[in-house]
Amino acid sequence: MPHPCQTCGACCARFRVAFHWSETTAFNPDGMPLALTQPLDAHRVSMRGTDCREPHCINLVGTVGGAVSCSQYARRPSPCRELGAAWEHGEPSPQCDRARAAYGLAALTPESWLPAAASQDP
Ligand code: SF4
Ligand code: SF4
Repeated sequence: MPHPCQTCGACCARFRVAFHWSETTAFNPDGMPLALTQPLDAHRVSMRGTDCREPHCINLVGTVGGAVSCSQYARRPSPCRELGAAWEHGEPSPQCDRARAAYGLAALTPESWLPAAASQDP
């Protein structure tokens, strides 16, 4: 079964993704390539494409609500790692719910993670 995030991507096209510059290759060779970010303030950068009225991260591949992936998944910054999919680990995620709602996608529920229910997902 695909992970629900692999058929969503809404949060990558809903919020500004801001983080400390030390998470980029300017400090950490394994971090987010600096060229894929833009300066935000003295201490922070944002993912290109997310600091605007209609955010869409430069790394998001595919169409929101369809088959999506992050082209820099292994290097994704802390906000991406910290935004959990709702109920994946038994906790709600208002950000996940808001992002999905903005694209007309139903909120995930605890049942979304049951193998039987998940296998019925489109
Ligand atoms: S909005 Fe939720 S389900 Fe969609 S990609 Fe983000 S964390 Fe995953
Ligand atoms: S870096 Fe990847 S996980 Fe983070 S917002 Fe962009 S596409 Fe999404």
